[in-house]
Amino acid sequence: MALTRRQQWRIDKVQSEKIARSNKASIKAESNVDNNEAGHKGIVITRYGQRQLVELKSGEIFQAVSRQNIGFSVAGDQVLLQTTKEGEGIVTAIFPRKTELKRQERLIAANIDQLWLIVAIEPHYQFELIDRYLVIAEDSNLSINIVVNKIELSKNSEQLESDFSNYQELGYDVHFLSVKNETNLKEFKTKLVNKSHIFLGQSGVGKSSLVNSLIPDLELRVNEISSKSKLGKHTTTNTTLYHIPSGGDLIDSPGIREFQLDNLSEKQIVNGFREFKSLAGECRFRNCHHINEPGCVVKEAVELGEIHPNRYESYLNILP
Ligand code: GDP
Ligand code: ZN
Repeated sequence: MALTRRQQWRIDKVQSEKIARSNKASIKAESNVDNNEAGHKGIVITRYGQRQLVELKSGEIFQAVSRQNIGFSVAGDQVLLQTTKEGEGIVTAIFPRKTELKRQERLIAANIDQLWLIVAIEPHYQFELIDRYLVIAEDSNLSINIVVNKIELSKNSEQLESDFSNYQELGYDVHFLSVKNETNLKEFKTKLVNKSHIFLGQSGVGKSSLVNSLIPDLELRVNEISSKSKLGKHTTTNTTLYHIPSGGDLIDSPGIREFQLDNLSEKQIVNGFREFKSLAGECRFRNCHHINEPGCVVKEAVELGEIHPNRYESYLNILP
């Protein structure tokens, strides 16, 4: 729907007011820059409106604003920070990002290496839901692995393994855990070292439990961030980068964990099924939906058993 001139004017006005506010904050900070500082490399750990917390290699955390026109920095961004005489900071540059996690075009985190889809025995995993999450994850270009939690509740371990063998064949790493009994937790931790991660999955599968077992002093950390920010109470609802004591970083917030399937296009959905992607260009019709068109190689692959019927069923259900 086209905007009326008045609506457009409102939007422009709000935008320019926002810019003016942020400029004012950065000009104020610029006037206090320590002149003998070349700038330090740091990482954005969280963001509050115009302000952000930046952690330097030394572990010191600074509250900072961004220099004008450098763009919007988010948790996970590598940045250059100049400190001010008042012990605050100005972000003067954002380093190029390895990855961007966006939701409805809005950037929410940067430089995530690894996405973990968490599912469980209870609530029992469903293939279609797994595939929906995988489609979103594939769309974000991140490396994707799967965690199956609460395995001590499984009554049939053979079935469990066969249920996930197709995902393993497709190249997803699958880790079977019990956070409660600490089964395979140690090995899982070693997979996190030196990388930045997010956990994704439906409610009740054990994400909070997993985060708490990885970062036992989470509450302390949140309080520490809260006192640094001086902007009122920091809570775990804010997208934040946490260091995992055994190695690696976790970027977490409820918004990240419960990522919904946005309105993905048919092309994004097809690309979200790894095993379709390479075939889809070979169908007889260029605009093949892979439903019941003649000469559809995806359909053929399903019939030949090269594509798992569960996956194809998910595809049909996910299509708008
Ligand atoms: P979230 O909604 O994904 O964050 O899930 P929670 O961490 O809140 O966990 C939901 C419930 O599952 C809680 O009652 C946890 O104690 C429980 N839970 C977590 N991990 C395990 C596990 O390995 N086995 C069992 N049986 N329960 C677990
Ligand atoms: Zn086709």
